[in-house]
Amino acid sequence: MIKIYDYQYLLQDISKLNGIGKKTSKILKRKKIYKVFDLLWKLPQYYIDRSYISNIKELQIGKIQTIKVKVIKYNFPRVKNLPNRITCEDKTGKIDCVFFNSFEGYIRKVLPLNEIVTISGKITEFRGKYQITNPKYISPDSSLIRKKHNKYALTEGISEKIYNKIIQQVLNNLPNLPEWHNSNILKKFNNISWNLSIKKLHEPKNIGKYNSDFYKRLAFDEILASFMISSQIRKKIKKIKKELKFFNCNFQHEIEKKLTFNLTNDQKKVLLDINKDLKMKEKMFRLLQGDVGSGKTIVALISALNVIESGYQVAVMAPTEILAKQHFNLAKSTYPKNINIALLSGKTISKEKKKIEKEINQHNIDIVFGTHALFQKNIIFKKLGYIIIDEQHKFGVNQRKNLSDKGGKNCDVLLMSATPIPRTLIMSVYGDMDISLIKEKPKHRKEILTYSKLENKINDVIRFVKKEINYGNQIFWVCPIIEESKKVDHVSVINKFDFLQKIFPNKVGLLHGKISTDKKDEILNQFLKKKFKILVSTTVIEVGIDFPNANVIIIENANKFGLSQLHQLRGRVGRGNKQATCILMFSSNLSENAKKRIKILKNSNDGFDISEQDMKLRGFGDILGFNQSGLKNFKLADPMQNEDLFILGEKEIKRIENEKINIGKYKSLLKLYDQADIINDIV
Ligand code: ADP
Ligand code: MG
Repeated sequence: MIKIYDYQYLLQDISKLNGIGKKTSKILKRKKIYKVFDLLWKLPQYYIDRSYISNIKELQIGKIQTIKVKVIKYNFPRVKNLPNRITCEDKTGKIDCVFFNSFEGYIRKVLPLNEIVTISGKITEFRGKYQITNPKYISPDSSLIRKKHNKYALTEGISEKIYNKIIQQVLNNLPNLPEWHNSNILKKFNNISWNLSIKKLHEPKNIGKYNSDFYKRLAFDEILASFMISSQIRKKIKKIKKELKFFNCNFQHEIEKKLTFNLTNDQKKVLLDINKDLKMKEKMFRLLQGDVGSGKTIVALISALNVIESGYQVAVMAPTEILAKQHFNLAKSTYPKNINIALLSGKTISKEKKKIEKEINQHNIDIVFGTHALFQKNIIFKKLGYIIIDEQHKFGVNQRKNLSDKGGKNCDVLLMSATPIPRTLIMSVYGDMDISLIKEKPKHRKEILTYSKLENKINDVIRFVKKEINYGNQIFWVCPIIEESKKVDHVSVINKFDFLQKIFPNKVGLLHGKISTDKKDEILNQFLKKKFKILVSTTVIEVGIDFPNANVIIIENANKFGLSQLHQLRGRVGRGNKQATCILMFSSNLSENAKKRIKILKNSNDGFDISEQDMKLRGFGDILGFNQSGLKNFKLADPMQNEDLFILGEKEIKRIENEKINIGKYKSLLKLYDQADIINDIV
């Protein structure tokens, strides 16, 4: 048995609790409740007040009520399927307790003849008499029943009473953890302890008190733990010392002269950040965040040249083959001729692959582009000094940590992401990295015109598309996956494809999730080569790919998408010099909320601004990339409601870092809240 002042009590498997058998434990685990700690965050939804004792005469049919009665008569029929019926009375009347499928012995025990008991349950009527069926709240000690009983959103198979008992047991045994917060912080929450906060959280009268000290304290604990874990990973990475990289930006200057455009100020600044990191003795672990089309690729490719100049190799990883190929082509057309470039794709034939692997191993190749296949065991770099990863928003903290270990201590890491996230979330999502931002869009880029159209106006849209095709432009036509009818997922795209094919014979292509990766790449390549004009697709058009000739995107059922996702989709067009247009289509009249969202999109082309506003309208859980980011969901903390706490958390982490505070005193906090066990080897 573990001593109860220790956090370990809360990290036990739930099956260790009294009253949780195999069955209950299985049900809870299905609900992702594994440890005792997880139980604490399943909060009561509302409560049932069983405290008032009613006279039988005044009972109301259909209500849950409590009575104090004397057991006066048993009726145990010996006929199968007939219920056992126990008659009870108080001064004012009689009531029957009816039991289906209950053993006589049990009934005699809980309702002993001629004794006074308190019973609570739903009052019904049968043949003109009051009745309670299978009452669960029965006790000779009325104080056990006369309470407010929490009602939890229960999983089938666990009864209310049992669940309350389990929770009560945990609350009674809650360890008194040593306080981890500094007194200034604690004061902001009126000095309430963690232990008391948890107890208050489960008190019926406190349901929904989001602004109370106990609630805020617990939310802050969560935020600080999340920030601290990131901060520790970051610190650990910073401790890694690498061999110095020396370069004079010779290749960089060469390529800058060759470009048909000037780098934006933000691009220049980010390059300076990266170059500085590359030259330092600490390993770089940096995120380059920039809206779609902000020009991250060229920045990464230029920095790669500096690493090559310093005598190291570079690996560039993209999420899809086609994107890897675009980056490879860009390098081929802009890099100095003496740089050796390779593309390793799933399609590379195995003889060629072996050759490339050998050349990588002999350092005859300076930079290689590919998908995650680049990190296979048989690919051994002679002198890898830099890993660049594009569109990394699908990685979680854990994956990133593994990544930073890859390539060894001399290997700097740059991640790129076009997924803008609200400011308050940056620390929790990316706190383990240094962050560079590109906010500025390349000059002369025209804003994408955004319109909304009702579906019955499709003829207007067709007319517009005809005109654009006549100008030689290409069109994306996006239909969402209809979730209600999983089986017919692709019907909507296929129908649309048939429909458009009739109007634009031989000018339409089709892409959806059921199409194999190879075929998909082929279709995208044909579209790139302008073999057809309209690409009808689900949302599988990958992020990052440059389609300079596509300048119109039509998005059907636009209300099915989040704002950030619409913004990302819209970013597929408008990368060339032509005026780009995005048409959002709706099947019916828009709700007020939907109208607001469209307005935000029409008025802003800034992904960060949009994600911020999206969060305010839909909650942060829906923000693109957030769910996939592997980031644990907060249990109580809400980035919208608790913005102040997130800011306080950032300040506190900075203080802890600056004053070099020993995080030993946060041990319980970290052990409890770090569900991914990331911190294990640190504290
Ligand atoms: P993202 O940041 O979304 O990855 P890309 O790197 O693919 O964006 O760049 C989008 C397009 O903008 C590319 O065609 C690229 O050549 C172009 N571009 C990048 N930087 C500039 C710049 N400073 N001025 C003009 N065009 C630029
Ligand atoms: Mg990109």
